[in-house]
Amino acid sequence: MNDQDQMDFYRNLHFYYKHLFPIQMIVDWLSYAKDNQPELRYFSRREFSFERSIDGETFYQRYQQFQNAYGLQKFLLDNKQNDQTSTLIKYDIGAVFDKLPKKGEKLKAMEKEIVIDIDMDAYDEVRTCCQGAKICEKCWKFLQVACDILRPALFQDFGLEHILAVYSGRRGIHLWVCDSHIRKSTNEVRSAIIGYLNINTGNADAEEIIREVKQEKVEKLHPSIQRAYFIAQQFFKQIILIDQNSLKIENVKKKILTILKQTKILNPKLEKSIQEINDSSQIWDLICSQDSERLEIAKLQIILMCLYPRLDAHVSTTINHLLKGPFSIHPKTQRVCVPFNLKNSSQFNPLDTPTLPSIIKQLAQLPDELKQRENENKIFPFLGKEIPSLSPYIQLFEDFISKYNKPKIN
Ligand SMILES: [Zn+2]
Repeated sequence: MNDQDQMDFYRNLHFYYKHLFPIQMIVDWLSYAKDNQPELRYFSRREFSFERSIDGETFYQRYQQFQNAYGLQKFLLDNKQNDQTSTLIKYDIGAVFDKLPKKGEKLKAMEKEIVIDIDMDAYDEVRTCCQGAKICEKCWKFLQVACDILRPALFQDFGLEHILAVYSGRRGIHLWVCDSHIRKSTNEVRSAIIGYLNINTGNADAEEIIREVKQEKVEKLHPSIQRAYFIAQQFFKQIILIDQNSLKIENVKKKILTILKQTKILNPKLEKSIQEINDSSQIWDLICSQDSERLEIAKLQIILMCLYPRLDAHVSTTINHLLKGPFSIHPKTQRVCVPFNLKNSSQFNPLDTPTLPSIIKQLAQLPDELKQRENENKIFPFLGKEIPSLSPYIQLFEDFISKYNKPKIN
């Protein structure tokens, strides 16, 4: 960004936090009113942290806590820090502590959503269309498969109900698991849940490329692995063989050879052919033509190695890990970190999400009288629902919160 773009970005952010950031909804969400009586001051004990910029230098402000939406907005819009003009870049959400902070007192983290974080660069090994932070519609399919595999694991295996799926603004997704008992879980429980979900851990020399597949028959595997295989199979041809031609990649070949060796399918002739061929469909046909009782288990490992969700485990396993909140603006792409429907993730296209300049342009077209606040002790009117490209995501968030707080009818 040149200096002018930088100035525009900062100015736009200010208007965004004033009128388009769903501040009251963020407070309503994190209050979990169904579980918490107001006197517990649950929301006020939540840590927020902020990244700000002064003259191009960024700094962090940790352990900020707020009574309500008004306090949070006042802080977001306050651009004076120690007599210098600062700009808020992003906000992070931390844990709920045992008490409000007092100087010199130690705080204990009591609750935090488990957030499952998947970044596209974890797939660099198997994708050929882009690398690093870049994404396109082709490689986004990896994350759609990840959602398809994780959805039944979370909703059925763990019986969870309240998962807020959020696009991280550039190359990944965050699944905020908000169920009450999950928020209260210890680091050990967090690690156990992530351990259950994270089976694609081996490198090319690992004893197991995919964990828990020592059985010789697919039918004897844990049902969740069989289910993941069934789901991934449906995408393997299009994504791995056609779109990405992943099997020609050297490290992928190395892993395939390890799997074929471990399942005792590999012979010198097959190894030589796999080394020489650079067309994924041909390699796959060759593997599938092998006559072995263990062929199915080898295919399962290769398919899951390519398509099983690659979780960034350390984000999920500690209770006081800070993470960028929903409706942040990603500073590099200027895209809004919008929620999406996990049950319909194939319909979500990250390249269609609203950008900061576009929604600020739409905001500027709204009449000024809509933007006046009633008095100085109130938050500024929220106009996100008036912005066509933003309003469906606001609606999704609102529905998520009201579903959470709806009393259960037995
Ligand atoms: Zn791509």
